[in-house]
Amino acid sequence: LTMELRDPDLFRSRAYLDGAWVGADDGATFPVTNPADGAMLGRVPDMGAAETRRAVTAAGAAWPAWRALTAKARAGLQRRWFELIMANQEDLALLMTTEQGKPLAEARGEVAYGASFVEWFAEEGKRVYGDTIPAHAPDKRLLVLREPVGVVAAITPWNFPLAMITRKVAPALAAGCTAVVKPAEDTPFSALALAVLAERAGIPAGVFNVITGDAEAIGAELTGNPAVRKLSFTGSTEVGKLLMRQCAGTVKKLSLELGGNAPFIVFDDADLDAAVAGALASKYRNSGQTCVCANRMLVQEGIYDAFAEKLAAAVRELQVGPGTESGSQQGPLINSAALEKVEGLLADAVDKGARVLTGGHRHALGGTFFEPTVVCDVTPEMRMTREEIFGPVAPLYRFSTEAEALRMANDTRYGLAAYFYSRDIGRIWRVSEGLEYGIVGINEGIISTEVAPFGGMKESGIGREGSRYGIDEFLEIKYLCLGGI
Ligand code: ADP
Repeated sequence: LTMELRDPDLFRSRAYLDGAWVGADDGATFPVTNPADGAMLGRVPDMGAAETRRAVTAAGAAWPAWRALTAKARAGLQRRWFELIMANQEDLALLMTTEQGKPLAEARGEVAYGASFVEWFAEEGKRVYGDTIPAHAPDKRLLVLREPVGVVAAITPWNFPLAMITRKVAPALAAGCTAVVKPAEDTPFSALALAVLAERAGIPAGVFNVITGDAEAIGAELTGNPAVRKLSFTGSTEVGKLLMRQCAGTVKKLSLELGGNAPFIVFDDADLDAAVAGALASKYRNSGQTCVCANRMLVQEGIYDAFAEKLAAAVRELQVGPGTESGSQQGPLINSAALEKVEGLLADAVDKGARVLTGGHRHALGGTFFEPTVVCDVTPEMRMTREEIFGPVAPLYRFSTEAEALRMANDTRYGLAAYFYSRDIGRIWRVSEGLEYGIVGINEGIISTEVAPFGGMKESGIGREGSRYGIDEFLEIKYLCLGGI
């Protein structure tokens, strides 16, 4: 792999701790493989609690000087980091595809998307304004300061190996915090390459640390260590709840981006072609492995058959193959557990009467490739109605009225993204307001951008990332009451 990179130095097999590239204390490592062919790409340090404690201490030691810089000085360093990420877009995309599986075009897109948070928050850090409050007594003056929370821990998933890190670290650094990141075991090389570029950008030692290894041990230290003031996590709802419990002991601030169960509603009055294009984009991006992927396609009875037919026809055209192959639109699933989960959910649905319109099996390419699938006549009794599929399977549900669609859409413990297609302006308002979701795509299947707030309601999480709201997650409010004037 290093031979194919323009800059082989971006490929690192050591963790980045306090500005140094280090191995685990006991020298232990674990392997990272390419999901497209199972080949081993390299090994990274298998670190635990002791190394994590040192990373937290380093981040704590680096904090006062980082915080003392002017916002403009921090912005300059982050701007440089952004430029280096974009200058290395091709290498970062190749690294990502090789460890994660997504098609190169999507990986390039993620590098740009990930970099956009660094650029955006470099600017936004300059606009962390305070307040003055008209006082409650003549001899007092009241002020509000917004201050960095301190050391931030970030635990990130494999589906967006780069953007989920910058979405947390860029606002943290801009706010004047320092950070310790634990990337997912499947995709550490993207995280380490980001650290190479942060170092080159001149971000001081200890401000941004990346540790790899035992998720449980690292997680226990990050959540238990009182010097960590904030945890930002993206991943499964189950692990999010565990980390939330672990953070209770030291009452840490928390941001959680957890699972979703996105409804994608197509009303009779929708533009059919636009709805099919949106469904394709929302469902099959990253082979269905995003927390905002449509998980349930709710289709009104008048348009159901036409939509099913058009969607199935479009899905048949999707090109499946290794992400590095030109023209590939659907890469492999991340690992065999993911493959088995998708297969199990589909088998359960078919058992209970669902009909496969296209796909439905492991792909002939073998490994963890799965056929892009459309399945109709899905009902609430089937497991995929409640569970996140996280694979290229689109289940179609039939409904008759707007009220029924809203009831079905909200009948879940999740509340991250929802989508609907309609051209009736009254309905657009009613449904937008009725959906219990943090993000609503209206006649649109792709909603992510650094300028808008991303986050969920209910068990999908706490807090928002990106946009001017995203930096608040890393700021404390301090109230000053000045008396005796
Ligand atoms: P996914 O289903 O996307 O793999 P996970 O929640 O398992 O979601 O993983 C997201 C991140 O959480 C990864 O970095 C993973 O290593 C980490 N993780 C998993 N279990 C724990 C744990 N017990 N403590 C801390 N981090 C964990």
